[in-house]
Amino acid sequence: MKKNIKCPYGKDCGACHINDCDYSQNIAVKQEKLNRLYEPFKVSVNDIIADENPYNYRYKVIATFQKSKKRTNLGIYQENSHKVVAVKDCLIQNTVANEILITLENLVNSFKIEPYNEQTGYGLIRHVLIRTGYNSKEVLVCLVCASERFPSRKNLVNALLKKHPNITTVTCNINNRDTSIVLGNVEKTIYGPGFIYDTLCGKKFRISSKSFYQVNPKQTEVLYKTAIDLANINKNETILDCYSGIGTITLVASDNALKVTGVELNQSSIEDAIKNQQINKINNVEFIKMDATEFMLKQARYGNKYDVVILDPPRDGSTDAFINSLGKLIPERVVYISCNPETQVRDLKTFVNNGYKILVIQPVDLFPFTDHVESVVLMMKK
Ligand code: SAH
Repeated sequence: MKKNIKCPYGKDCGACHINDCDYSQNIAVKQEKLNRLYEPFKVSVNDIIADENPYNYRYKVIATFQKSKKRTNLGIYQENSHKVVAVKDCLIQNTVANEILITLENLVNSFKIEPYNEQTGYGLIRHVLIRTGYNSKEVLVCLVCASERFPSRKNLVNALLKKHPNITTVTCNINNRDTSIVLGNVEKTIYGPGFIYDTLCGKKFRISSKSFYQVNPKQTEVLYKTAIDLANINKNETILDCYSGIGTITLVASDNALKVTGVELNQSSIEDAIKNQQINKINNVEFIKMDATEFMLKQARYGNKYDVVILDPPRDGSTDAFINSLGKLIPERVVYISCNPETQVRDLKTFVNNGYKILVIQPVDLFPFTDHVESVVLMMKK
């Protein structure tokens, strides 16, 4: 492993803490924080499964265009600020994306495309999102613009494709709102199919720019394997996978289960999930587009039973109504995957109040050199 690499942007850029520590220190700090957080449950936290190669792990990259004097920069926000640092060759982003970012910055300058100005609301190009397939090497470039009127778009895209023939699709997302949310609702495909495929845990997945997909695919395989091993599913069991995204866990778990139901609210993710079920020719799975809490309340009302519930909510965690309703269905095992241990700890207290016992707490690091970590918790009905 490369050790103690110094990043020339470390002082200004808010993306990671490569300059403040080496990776083993970063892991030690996270472990200590987790040990403290989960202390009330009196179950010791397993050692974090660290990333064997903690560099260039981000396969989803978002960069922002911003004018600085005469030149337009493409880069990453400073911590707690909207000033863009023109980072080149970011040490946590994958190298394919890094190369495309350099070309895009040069092209936007040579085509004199005005970047969007957050203060005045003028200008056109705002961000770029690049998703690279870890195994497939397919590349999606999504240009986020403030308006659909983009006179030099065709020439820009042609020049980009000429320099990077590995780009398999280009989309244009329209975001004209005064917001720090990157993507708007309208998106047009301007080259290729509008999504990429990648393989993960032996399954093929279609991934669109607006769908959720973990940023670190290599460690995602470790995370899913950890969660599915802990769930210890057998062929006679029915599984509920809540907050299922593009159906990754649902479809991977289906190999060992009688039936798996995935529940997800985001339209783009659910469309990808249904396509992914078809591509992988899996028959023992269904996807439901619904708010997970609403779905769980309904299941409790109808008394629908599941043997195992897996949940993987966003950073805000789940809801008391979800957990209390789940408590009425009495699944024997619950596997809770979280990207925010603080909200997970809050939710675990509700699980414990509903008669669940925490057996295993297994963190997995998907975000080296940051404060973030994933945590997988296995619970059983007492
Ligand atoms: N398990 C998936 C996705 C996890 S991210 C994976 O590993 O890739 C969390 C997911 O929850 C996102 O796809 C998001 O769209 C979805 N989500 C957010 N709020 C939700 C809600 N209230 N009900 C159902 N799904 C929700």
